[in-house]
Amino acid sequence: MINLSELTALCEKLGCKIIPECPLKEYVTFRLGGSCRALISVNSAVSAVELLKYLKAGGIKYGVLGRGSNVLPADEGFDGVILLFGSDFSNITMEGTTIKCQAGTLLASACVHAQQRGLTGMENLFGIPGTVGGALYMNAGAYGSEMKDVVVSAQYIDENCNICDISIEDMELSYRHSFFSDRDCIITSVTMKLTEGDPDAVKAAMTECMGKRSSKQPLEYPSAGSTFKRPEGSYASKLIDQCGLKGMSRGGAQVSEKHAGFVINTGDATCSDVLELCSDIIKIVKEKTGYTLELEPVILK
Ligand SMILES: Cc1cc2nc3c(=O)[nH]c(=O)nc-3n(C[C@H](O)[C@H](O)[C@H](O)COP(=O)(O)OP(=O)(O)OC[C@H]3O[C@@H](n4cnc5c(N)ncnc54)[C@H](O)[C@@H]3O)c2cc1C
Repeated sequence: MINLSELTALCEKLGCKIIPECPLKEYVTFRLGGSCRALISVNSAVSAVELLKYLKAGGIKYGVLGRGSNVLPADEGFDGVILLFGSDFSNITMEGTTIKCQAGTLLASACVHAQQRGLTGMENLFGIPGTVGGALYMNAGAYGSEMKDVVVSAQYIDENCNICDISIEDMELSYRHSFFSDRDCIITSVTMKLTEGDPDAVKAAMTECMGKRSSKQPLEYPSAGSTFKRPEGSYASKLIDQCGLKGMSRGGAQVSEKHAGFVINTGDATCSDVLELCSDIIKIVKEKTGYTLELEPVILK
């Protein structure tokens, strides 16, 4: 049982904002799902530790959210507390070619900072609409670059609420997977090492990258980006298109006509609509092509 007045008092002491009965659809790019019992906007690693200690001691269920761009919250909501790593925890520091970001920093802001200093290495990641914490958790990547190409170290809170450092060698980064994916740990900062370059060339590459996204992806609709992981030996969008599934829908969820790899919310989609559509897609693609598709977004329930 959550004692909301006690939790609110703790948030006040830590200077963290708390929203009781918070609708999660306002915090995820898919714009769907139910409410959580409370959403707390984390403002420092120390606050995160204090909150975690409290939640763990009380046996209170909790979850972590960055920009919510790879999350599908269940329609029935989340019966616990969501710790939001967003704009209240988004400081960037730069030293030489090293850029250190608090976990809630938008990847796009980190890319712009790097560009302004003429640093190259992150331009292909520009346009991934997540935080650096979420991007490291997922080892996000695009157009041949991944977080693992630029990250050197990170700070995180482990299962016992200790603040720890980890270097790239121990992060187990592979396709959409990291050390953090299998553990009850929270990333608090990410350090990336870039290379000296030309600010204009970096800017041009970022603009080109964004142009490719807006011409190929249905950015005008809420979604979680690519709905399925890339199967070994093919591409989810190619297989879905090949099966003639563009435009297929369940309730307000639809396979985008523009990019078959995206399931979009056409207005009033529920999480169940998306999951039913995805399970139909998986079945049809398996029957027609033999490939097994796997959901990429994380289901929050
Ligand atoms: C239009 C669109 C395009 C996209 N394009 C791409 C793309 O090109 N490449 C790509 O890889 N992805 C892409 N994505 C997916 C998504 O943007 C990335 O996976 C992104 O890295 C998720 O970051 P986030 O902050 O939104 O994380 P969330 O969606 O908030 O969270 C994702 C997971 O990470 C965990 N998490 C978040 N922050 C932390 C933290 N600080 N500590 C521990 N765990 C944490 C959450 O608990 C959750 O399990 C796209 C999404 C959209 C909507």
